[in-house]
Amino acid sequence: MVLVFGTRHKRHPIGFFKAPCHVCGAVTDHLRVWDKGVAHVWFIPLFPIKSKRLIICGGCGTAKPDRPELDAVPIGGIVGLPSQ
Ligand SMILES: [Zn+2]
Repeated sequence: MVLVFGTRHKRHPIGFFKAPCHVCGAVTDHLRVWDKGVAHVWFIPLFPIKSKRLIICGGCGTAKPDRPELDAVPIGGIVGLPSQ
């Protein structure tokens, strides 16, 4: 019997904000998502293994770790976040 183990990632949108991208340089919407990993066998989810938050550039698609300080500001259409 062959068991196929693997992991799967689901991304749940949290919100977005407008900011300059450090990779492509475009000022565009960045999407904040929960990236949730689940271990599964034969596509049956077993247990969650990790979850993290990411920021994904709407221009080039680069995913970066979330910035916790963004929790302090309302999500959606925020313009002019300082670049780090
Ligand atoms: Zn970009």
